[in-house]
Formats: sequence, structure tokens, C-alpha cells
Amino acid sequence: VIESVIGDRPALNPRLLSLARWVSDYYCCPLETAFRAVLPQVVRKAEMTAKTQQFARLAREVTDQELEKTGRRSPGQREVLEYLGQHGKAKVTQIARDCGVDRASLRSLEKKGLLTFFSEEVQRDPLQDEVFIATTPLALNAEQARAFAELAAALDEPAPKPFVLHGVTGSGKTEVYLQLVQGALDRGKSAILLVPEIALTPQTVERLKGRFPEVGVAVLHSHLSGGERYDEWHRINDQQARIVIGARSAVFAPLENLGLIVVDEEHENSYKQEEAPRYHGRDLAVVRGALEKCVVLLGSATPSLESIQNTLSGKYRLLRLLERVDDQKMPILRVIDMRQESQKQKGGAILSGRLAQAIERRLERREQTILFLNRRGFSTSLICHVCGYVCECPHCSVALTYHRAAARIVCHICGHVAAVPKKCPACSDPKIRYSGTGTEKVEDAVARLFPKAVVRRMDADAMTRKGAYREALSEFRLGKIDILVGTQMIAKGLHFPNVTLVGIVNADLTLHLADFRASERTFQLITQVAGRAGRGELEGEVFIQSFTPYHPAIQYARHHDFEGFREQEVEFRQQWNYPPFTHMVLITIRSPHEDRGKFSAETLERRLRENLPAGVELSQTAPAPLERSHGNFRFHLMLRTVAIARLSRHLKGVLEKLTFPEDVVVAVDVDPYQLM
Ligand code: ADP
Ligand code: ZN
Repeated sequence: VIESVIGDRPALNPRLLSLARWVSDYYCCPLETAFRAVLPQVVRKAEMTAKTQQFARLAREVTDQELEKTGRRSPGQREVLEYLGQHGKAKVTQIARDCGVDRASLRSLEKKGLLTFFSEEVQRDPLQDEVFIATTPLALNAEQARAFAELAAALDEPAPKPFVLHGVTGSGKTEVYLQLVQGALDRGKSAILLVPEIALTPQTVERLKGRFPEVGVAVLHSHLSGGERYDEWHRINDQQARIVIGARSAVFAPLENLGLIVVDEEHENSYKQEEAPRYHGRDLAVVRGALEKCVVLLGSATPSLESIQNTLSGKYRLLRLLERVDDQKMPILRVIDMRQESQKQKGGAILSGRLAQAIERRLERREQTILFLNRRGFSTSLICHVCGYVCECPHCSVALTYHRAAARIVCHICGHVAAVPKKCPACSDPKIRYSGTGTEKVEDAVARLFPKAVVRRMDADAMTRKGAYREALSEFRLGKIDILVGTQMIAKGLHFPNVTLVGIVNADLTLHLADFRASERTFQLITQVAGRAGRGELEGEVFIQSFTPYHPAIQYARHHDFEGFREQEVEFRQQWNYPPFTHMVLITIRSPHEDRGKFSAETLERRLRENLPAGVELSQTAPAPLERSHGNFRFHLMLRTVAIARLSRHLKGVLEKLTFPEDVVVAVDVDPYQLM
């Protein structure tokens, strides 16, 4: 049923329509859900309209005598008349500001019949308050030039194969992207640059805006207001913007004549959308590239095993940048065995003696330090040392995290907040203790050790205010902060020349998750975080604290040995039949009623087994590792196969025929990244 018609021309070109169909088939979701991702909600809804603002212009020609006369009584009003004589028309707010008059003066001019008000559409520009410093292309070094030549040549191929650009941190990948965007523009084509999270990559936006001040650059991401998104989308759809930078959803940007899609930090998990349609932005970039017959470039210092495997099988082409630009050295990585350290220090060490000394030296030399820990809060749990009781969330099967600044215990899954108990809720003993370390505790420990240093914490709790992140970054860049403590927020493509020390407070956090990608993530994280050190004239040093210092992910990262890590990780994946050697599909069945959830999962399992396509492996129904979340009981079914298209079809068929009780929700995740 067509409810209403929005706009007077199709909002989707045939290639975007095909992309939506592909999403629906591959990710096993209704076509409508796929369309919802392709067309932003503000564009689908008819209510949103363009923003209008009040303007003024002269009502008629003003004679010199009138000008004189007005000027004698009010010099401000005379200025307005002259101003409009020069500019023709202007926004009322702008006239008021530039001529130093108030609205009453403007209205009085209107009464005299000299001035008319009218309203006109204006663009909401999310970056209007920002100033971008213009930059010019840099002379590429030999490695960059070689990669660039091959990429630029592909811009003229009729149907280019995708590229992986594996370039170590600081090798100048972004400069290659920018020059390639220029290459696309020179050929009359448009370009998309995908970044993992736009709020965390302000420097990339700045560089793009600074390089292409004349060409429309549109920004798409989830932090835009509805109105901003509406305007940006229409600016793209009207082909006023030729370049789009954005998070994963920007892969659907309605550009015509697309010449290039760049996926920066292609290994990042934030490209995966964790709600339906559960698509992967990088993979869709490749699919869209094939539909548009344009160049797709996947760049990273630590490419995903999936992408590297595709270069080995010949589906993608591999380009490498092995050296940092300007012969900067790679930082020196030192692994610290925290087992020995915790014997030395009473009460569990947060910072090892060597890391503390290294910070001390940086403070003396007025250089900066970054301390990284991927866990918010003060401590991870409250444990009773008498009866062993742990404060858990009443809605989720996880321990509550203690947040000292807020004086609360908080669930990091559902946000449940509770007061901090004074004694054990189970045995009433007052000896309830905090255990585990979060960023708040690190900040606290550092401030105690170095009372004179300026310490700043950057995590989701400290950066809730709009603009807080940018402010903190700019203060850090200006050298007003000595030590920055943060979560993955500070791990991404930031570039600070004066940072010579990076400490990874606990490298084990990602390592021991029940996830086949745990090693890969740890390797990536160490390499990326370490890449923040020594990006100026000064040499960088990195300390990795770990209780399992000999783990291969840590040791290969320490030696900057991507190839070594890849080889041994691939062996493990192959042996256990994990991606990239197979496709996985994870089905989560959840319900507030345990029995109903379990029964539904088992029913689905039985149906799937009937006519299961050859070569598909189906697990038995099992409780999810995160058994309870938001008050729901969760069950998992896992499928694996090489022939994913056939499995998706089978799945869709079975799901269409089954009905579940009202409070049971079934979520299908093809190529999942979140296995909890
Ligand atoms: P990556 O994206 O690989 O981490 P960047 O593109 O951020 O590396 O480059 C790191 C720094 O080196 C940036 O400040 C950039 O301006 C500079 N740079 C890049 N290419 C060159 C070059 N050819 N000559 C001089 N400086 C360069
Ligand atoms: Zn919870």
C-alpha cells in the first residue's frame, strides 16, 4: 500500500536499489528493513522540510536625500540601507550583527517602506562554526608514489578490483587517500570516505575539508541532528556535494557517478551495524564498488584477516607502505610481566615501576604520555571478601561497575544504576571490596603518583557534554595536558607530535574474551595504540602491561610483525573452521521468560535441521555467554558454511513460515562480530 508520495523524483537510483536487495538477501532481513538503512529516516518521513530563515532586502531604490535624512536621526539605520545597497539581500541576524542594530530598527525601516522581510531556504551545516586550514598536496615519498600510481590507474579501469592498502601507522595513508580523491574529482567523479566513528576522527574530517575547500564535502554520521542529516542528504542527492565523509551508513550516500570509496581503518568493528540490518560497512563498500564499477580502497595498519585472505585468493589487490614518512622510527615496545610486578607491589599494581619511571622522565622533559585502558569506571566489581557475593545487575548476567565520581554502581550492558552498598547485601559483613581496574582508578593512581602533572581522563563518562571531546583533544595538542588516560576513544587515528610515551595498562582485557577474534583484536589494539607514540621528531616508547606476556598476539605486536601474527592466526582459524575460512551466522533468541525463549530456540533449531543445505553445520541450542541482558534470557544457535547465499535463502524461508510467541525476539546476524 502506498501511503504517500514524498518528493517528485525517485530517491534511490537503480544501483542503490540493487544494494538494498543485496543487503536483504545476504543479511537475511526483510527488504523493508534494508531500505530503512539505505534511506535515512528523516528523508523517508515527509514532515521534515528544509530550514528557512528570515532575510531582508531594500524595498525599492533609496535616494541620497533619504539616506541623508535617515542618517541624521539614526546612523545605524543609514548603515543598514547602505549595507543592503551593497549586498542586495542578507540574513536578518547577519545585518543586525554587521551593522550593530537591533530588530526594532529594521522594523522601523520596514514601516517607512524602505525595507522588506522575506524568508528563504538555508542549509543546516554541521560544520559551519569550524575553520579549516587549507592544505596543499604533499610530495609523495617513493612508497606512497608507487601505491598512488597503481590506484590512480585503476580510476580509469572499466571494473577495477578492490585494493587493500596495508600501511604502518604514520606511513601517510591519509595523504594517499586525499590525492586519490583529487584523482576522482579530476575525472569528474565523486568519492566516499568511510571512517569508523566520525566523532573520534576529527582530524580526518579537518584534513579532507582543508584539502577540498571549493568542492562540497558532506558529513554523515549518527550525531547529526535530524535537520542537519536531512540537509546533508539532500545536498548529496542534488549532487551539490561531490565528496562524502561518514561512518558506516555513508556507504549508502546517494552520489552519482561514483569513482572511489575509501574505507579507512577497515579492520574496525564499528563498521558492523549491531541492529537490523546487521550489515558490515566495509563489505558493503566492496559490493557497492562492484555495482558502481568504481575503485574501492580498504586501508589499515592492521588489515583484518578477512581482507588479507581476499588479497591472497586474488579477489583484492594488495599495496604496502612499510615505512613511516620522513624516516620516523617505529616506537620501541616493551612488555612488562605484571605477575612479577604484583608480587613487588602490595594490593595489586596498576602502574608498574618501569612505566611510572618512564612517565616521570616525560614530565621532566615536558613530553606527553597516553595511558590506555579499555574499561570505564573505577573498579569492575564489588566483591564480599567474606561470603564471595558479587553485586550483579538484576536485569543482566554481569557484575555492576563501581563509578566513584558518580558514587554509583552501574551496569555497562543496560545502564541500571544502584547505590553503593555499605555492607554485603548477602551476609551483612562490611568488608565488601572493589576489585578490578577501570579508567577512573588509573586516573586516580596517576594523580597520586604525580601530583604536579595535569591529568585528564577521556572516556564515555567524562565526555558526555557536547564538544568535550574536541576541547580535550585541542588542549592536549596545545600541551596543556601532561597525561591523557582513556579508553578506545584515544586509540584511533590521532596524531600528536609531542607524545613520546604510551602505556597499555592491561593488554589482557581483550585477550581472554570468549571470541575467536580475541587474539586479532588484541594485536590490532596494541599496534594501533602504540602507533600514537613518536609521531613527531621525537622517538616513541610503548609499555605493554600483561599477565600473559608471552602470548603470541602480544609478542608479534611487540616486534611489529604483522606477517608473523597473520600466519599463525590463520593456522588457528583454519584448524577450527573459523572465518575467514567459513561464514558464520549467529541467531539470538531472547525472551523475558526463560522457558519460552528456550522452547522457541529449540523449535527453530528443529526446523532448520529439516532440509539443511549440504555443507552447513548447525550447533545445538545453548544459552548465550551473556545469558541475561535487559531482563531477557538469551539463547544462541550458530551456523557455519562456505556457501552463505544458499544458507541465507534457507534461513529466510524457515523464518518466514515460523511464528514465535509475542515476547520472543529472534535476531539473525550474518558474519557476526559480537558473539556474547
Ligand atoms: P597514516 O594515515 O598512515 O597514519 P598520515 O597520513 O596521518 O599517516 O601521515 C602521518 C603524517 O605524515 C601526517 O602529518 C602527514 O601530513 C604527514 N605526511 C604524509 N605524507 C607525507 C609526505 N609525503 N611528506 C611529508 N609528510 C607527509
Ligand atoms: Zn544490566
